[in-house]
Amino acid sequence: MELGAFVFAHPGALVATRSGPELDLDDRVNQFALRPLAREEFATFTLDLCHNQVDRHFSRFPEDELEKINGMVPGRPLMERHDLRGSLPRGTFFRSELHRDGERLSVRPDVYVLRTRDNEDFILNIEGGVYRETSIGFAFQTPECSICASDLRVCNHVPGKSYGDAICHYVLRGVIDVIEGSVVPSGSQGTGFVAATRALPLGTALDTARAEFHRPVEIAARVRHWQRE
Ligand SMILES: [Zn+2]
Repeated sequence: MELGAFVFAHPGALVATRSGPELDLDDRVNQFALRPLAREEFATFTLDLCHNQVDRHFSRFPEDELEKINGMVPGRPLMERHDLRGSLPRGTFFRSELHRDGERLSVRPDVYVLRTRDNEDFILNIEGGVYRETSIGFAFQTPECSICASDLRVCNHVPGKSYGDAICHYVLRGVIDVIEGSVVPSGSQGTGFVAATRALPLGTALDTARAEFHRPVEIAARVRHWQRE
């Protein structure tokens, strides 16, 4: 049985608003605009979207996957709560950089949001620190086991459990696509806002995937809800 891709959300944080002169900012933003935008027409923010540390969901991106994500982010939309069906984007990611802080490597994209009347409250909530958590929606191929390096769907190790000195976690291998980045209200778990039809929390998705793996093939069509759409 072929194992499909996961669609998953991973939490991050809004780290900065940008102000002051920056020489090529207009040019970078205007790559994505259909007419040249003036500086006062948009706000820009920096997000710490994902990183190479084991997170509270016991998952971790290897550094080469972060490099891939970094290249995929520019041009992707900024959403609210991963709501791709009910709302239109709030902003567009216009560049992305890898940011190293000691052992921690993270993907830090910049996003621009137009200062339309409709976005006024949204921008104010970010600037005021109310909307400070973010989450990346992405598809990847293999949740690799940190203990035995097998696909976690076919081995018996449990993420979060200790095996000798090591705690089992997911190594997120084979990123296929970055779908969007979302702002989620402060205090959310990031994954909590992902609709069940689009993505499951990784632990639930693993249980589902293991159950499907050990069942006969005829149910394969039914697992599409956690496969890439
Ligand atoms: Zn394992």
